[in-house]
Amino acid sequence: MVKAEGVHKSFGPAHILKGIDLEVAPREVFCLIGPSGSGKSTFLRCINHLEQINAGRLYVDGDLVGYRQKGDKLYELKDSEVALKRRDIGMVFQRFNLFPHMTAIENVMEAPVQVKGEAKAVARARAERLLDRVGLSDKARNYPSQLSGGQQQRVAIARALAMEPKLMLFDEPTSALDPELVGDVLDVMRGLAEEGMTMIVVTHEMGFAREVGDALVFMDDGVVVESGHPRDVLTNPQHDRTKSFLSKVL
Ligand code: ATP
Ligand code: MG
Repeated sequence: MVKAEGVHKSFGPAHILKGIDLEVAPREVFCLIGPSGSGKSTFLRCINHLEQINAGRLYVDGDLVGYRQKGDKLYELKDSEVALKRRDIGMVFQRFNLFPHMTAIENVMEAPVQVKGEAKAVARARAERLLDRVGLSDKARNYPSQLSGGQQQRVAIARALAMEPKLMLFDEPTSALDPELVGDVLDVMRGLAEEGMTMIVVTHEMGFAREVGDALVFMDDGVVVESGHPRDVLTNPQHDRTKSFLSKVL
């Protein structure tokens, strides 16, 4: 579903991603861990066409991100084409980024109606199903300010799912939440995983990685230091950098 080959990304003189190689299979829950500043969010943003890579190849669902290939020539995609591709990828951030002036259900309906031009009745029916799925049927008419952080994050997940994405990217979805609200969000993510959604999850929740993850990558300073099955990496890390990171977070 996602394949990175020697992906590099710089911001001006700052070399952030220094040759990332990895592959995420369809239906896989792929966890990404690593210290602050190691490039995890940057990598997710590259997958979602929010940043352009400087070297290497990045594929999503078989397509080169940001380019169209004709023969052996590459053509940069137009903004409108990038926008189309981005529809297939759902993203959930640390901060919930809901539209504050819209109710929960309006937030979930927004993109299908505005971006896809879907009929409101169709979008509303789906939004009701999705809110039910994240356990918030009774909060559909609440505004974000009338929801807890965990509830807002579950609305944000429902909103991303409303576009029926092929791939979901989660960037530390629980790290801004009070501890007692984390479990409900992780439960929703676990449910999604069980339904076979392909997910890349940047997280500090090692319990989630161990129980739900199919693969785990430890990134440091813009490179993949170690990868494998979460149980193996978490219980038997091979590299000193991984050991030292895990000793701080476990
Ligand atoms: P954290 O765990 O704190 O979220 P991270 O692994 O997600 O960290 P990134 O956000 O990817 O790290 O940032 C990696 C580096 O890239 C940081 O040093 C950051 O300052 C730099 N960086 C990210 N975006 C930009 C940008 N738009 N312009 C310049 N530098 C940037
Ligand atoms: Mg980050």
